[in-house]
Amino acid sequence: VFIAGYCSPLLFLRYQKLEQATLSLLIVLMSHLFIYTYYLFSPDSGFHLYYLLVPSIVFLLLDENSQRLKLFFTFLSTILFVLCATTPQSPLVAVPELVNKYFFISSVIVITIEIYLVFHFYSQTINQQATALKLMASIDPLTKLNNRLHFDNISQVIFENAKRSGNKFSVLLIDIDWFKKVNDTHGHIVGDMTLITVANTLKEQLRSGDCVARYGGEEFIILLPNTNKNEAELVASKLNKEVADLVINVKSVNLSCTISIGVAEFTSCHNSLLEVIDHADQALYQAKDTGRNKVAVYSS
Ligand code: GH3
Ligand code: MG
Ligand code: MG
Repeated sequence: VFIAGYCSPLLFLRYQKLEQATLSLLIVLMSHLFIYTYYLFSPDSGFHLYYLLVPSIVFLLLDENSQRLKLFFTFLSTILFVLCATTPQSPLVAVPELVNKYFFISSVIVITIEIYLVFHFYSQTINQQATALKLMASIDPLTKLNNRLHFDNISQVIFENAKRSGNKFSVLLIDIDWFKKVNDTHGHIVGDMTLITVANTLKEQLRSGDCVARYGGEEFIILLPNTNKNEAELVASKLNKEVADLVINVKSVNLSCTISIGVAEFTSCHNSLLEVIDHADQALYQAKDTGRNKVAVYSS
């Protein structure tokens, strides 16, 4: 009878009825447990301890929309546990005391292992989700570069370090030239692909300690640790050339684009990172004003 009972969830699964399959499995399990613990064996066997597993099993099997069912099975298992533990019965299967002792010990072992595995499963799931969330909160979904928030966190640490130890660093603010025209002429999909290609090119050219991020729509920011403005200008010129040499091929459209870059070096006069970025921004405006597709370095 039980084998036939345990086949019913499989039947439901075959017809893709997951909810009914779960419910029938729980009903068969509970009936199985009740018959064993109330009619067949005495509480000395410890079989009634298996009711303690029911709450963790329902949390594993049922989703978050089934709160009432979870509560129902949890209460039912508690009531049946108390009933089986306290009602005097004459069990149908008479088992010697020693065998009951082994049954009891094996029940405790199985229950302990199951509780450990359930906690292990949930802590693993929580850790995986926390890692995924952290990644989502720090990465720009289109270009897969760091987003502005993440850049702010990393760069603030570098700024405070530099302020304390006198280390140098430079900031590059990058803006794609005439990008609106790319969208207007070829559409947003081509515009997006252009952003992705430029972002990949920037990433490929940088060293591992450098921090690159998407700063706004078609603007990028790079922080180069231990780099003065002359070295930063060289890096910027290389980036400028690499992007200008790109041929972007999307939807059988071949296009190229250029970028303008403003460079500023951190000095002891800067009281915040925003001041360094502001100077890079002023240099960027200068690059735009004087013809675009070029690098301008801020000088006080
Ligand atoms: P300039 O050389 O002066 O920088 O000119 P520009 O056309 O690049 O500058 P403008 O600020 O006028 O236009 C920027 C455009 O970037 C406008 C906006 O629609 C586009 N843009 C911003 N974010 C995205 C995006 O995620 N995808 C696409 N396809 N376009 C974007
Ligand atoms: Mg812009
Ligand atoms: Mg632009």
